[in-house]
Amino acid sequence: MTSPIAVLPPEVADAIAAGEVIERPASVVKELVENALDADARRISIDVRGAGKTSIRVSDDGAGIPAEELALAFVRHATSKVAALPDLDSIASFGFRGEALASMAAVADLEAESSGARVRIRAGQVVEQGAGSIVPGVTIEVRDLFANVPARLKFLKSDATEVAAIKDVVIAYAVLHPHIRFQLSVEGRAAITSPGDGDRRRAVASVYGAGVAQEMIEMLGLPLVAGAVSQPRLSRGSRDGIVLAVNGRPISSRALVYALEECYQGRLERGRHPVAVIDIGIDPGLVDVNVHPAKREVRFREEGTIFAALQRAVRASLSVSEPFRYQAVATHAVALNAVQESASVATAELTYSPPAGPGPLRPPSPEGMLRPLGQAGPGYLVAEGPQGLVLVDQHAAHERVLYNRLLRRLREGRGAAQPLLIPQAVDIEPGLIAAAADHRADLAALGLEYEEFGPRSIRVTSVPLEMPSGRATAAVQETLAALSENRGDGAMEKAAAALACHSAVRFGDVLDPVEQRRLLADLETAEESVTCPHGRPTRLVLEWQELTRHFRRNY
Ligand code: ADP
Ligand code: MG
Repeated sequence: MTSPIAVLPPEVADAIAAGEVIERPASVVKELVENALDADARRISIDVRGAGKTSIRVSDDGAGIPAEELALAFVRHATSKVAALPDLDSIASFGFRGEALASMAAVADLEAESSGARVRIRAGQVVEQGAGSIVPGVTIEVRDLFANVPARLKFLKSDATEVAAIKDVVIAYAVLHPHIRFQLSVEGRAAITSPGDGDRRRAVASVYGAGVAQEMIEMLGLPLVAGAVSQPRLSRGSRDGIVLAVNGRPISSRALVYALEECYQGRLERGRHPVAVIDIGIDPGLVDVNVHPAKREVRFREEGTIFAALQRAVRASLSVSEPFRYQAVATHAVALNAVQESASVATAELTYSPPAGPGPLRPPSPEGMLRPLGQAGPGYLVAEGPQGLVLVDQHAAHERVLYNRLLRRLREGRGAAQPLLIPQAVDIEPGLIAAAADHRADLAALGLEYEEFGPRSIRVTSVPLEMPSGRATAAVQETLAALSENRGDGAMEKAAAALACHSAVRFGDVLDPVEQRRLLADLETAEESVTCPHGRPTRLVLEWQELTRHFRRNY
């Protein structure tokens, strides 16, 4: 920032979303990190003591503050980033309110050093001013946060929670800004160290561990959206691993999280969530960041376009999802490790080598790459492929194949129906009959046709080609229930999933070698074949490498 710091004129100050900027120690860290980023720092060190209540010290190697402006930086509405009202329409910096340092100065004992000058401010008053060290950048230490505001202190959560909030802040910036080296130490111990070499996967490894980083698919070459999303075989029980941002600024947006998770529908089981880092880069004029005091929420001019771009990028990345792998240490366990634990391991093993052997991008050969070996247990197919030994859940696999087929028929609007010789009467709740009537043409495209037959029953005249006719009653009841439960969004997909489920071979059915071969070949060419439409895995790969390791054949 080359412009001098100046106090905002009142009309600009008044146009700024007012509110509490400093709510907890993590807000101090966030504001100081953002100031360092605005100053083009390449290295940002954060040192936290007493869960941030005793001291938070942040130093950077950015542009620094001129000695003669150092005290001015702590005056309310003093900023070098915004000067006039129109600037607020297109904010390209993290800061723009000139409020953060002033707010900290009001509730803490603060010491700042830059350009050979030093200033100490307590409860908003300059108490000391003098010479400081001449190193690049700025160092600010915030001590005894909220010591003069006991009410605020009382509202802080446990030390562990406050430290976790600080880590979340640093994690978000570290994965969003892989070209910047972040170092966080908590009570004198290194908690996060990102390499700052510009490699997103390594940045992810430094905060979530190498196991997670390995499972991230990078979104490359797509305008607007940058980042990485997890393979469906890696998931979490919470949304804590989702970092969304606009122009490098972490935001919280339920709508964008929804857009992201929608892309995982049919790939993750209910209650599981992806790990994701998504940065939407848009013209600052098309997004308003001046709507929330801590700038956590933003407003988009063209929300629909943003959602569509995000979903296109995520779906494109997920199209190369890889199957679940058997590992001596399961990927899930790595993902669930505490961040702290994995961070230290991760720095030791930062090397990432892409999985060897033919990736999922290679189109299967016409005769298929999976060679069936037989059926095992109650309902698993055993096969061998180029990557290793493959176990297939025959029901889940068949469900996926049929579901894709049904969706294609739905899109093309023409079904492959199997007329029933004797129409089957099915008892149905009146509400479901209404739901069915709304979707009659779509149901026909899926192969399901019926006549209404009194207020509480219908007569089914045809079912999808693949459905054993004996299962029609249960299938129809469940399909119509899915339709009425999911009015609008995704209702037909849910209906198709119900039909696929009832048409698929069962877990426990005996399949002859021809049927086994056909199912494996169909699975290989199916899109999204890693999971069934409900998000359960279709297959498990025991990689040759893993066998080699286990049987000590690697020397
Ligand atoms: P804002 O970031 O909204 O401008 P702040 O109160 O956070 O307001 O900072 C006030 C001013 O102090 C900034 O506009 C900037 O000029 C200067 N400043 C603060 N921190 C730094 C830093 N780490 N490096 C360089 N300049 C800084
Ligand atoms: Mg700021």
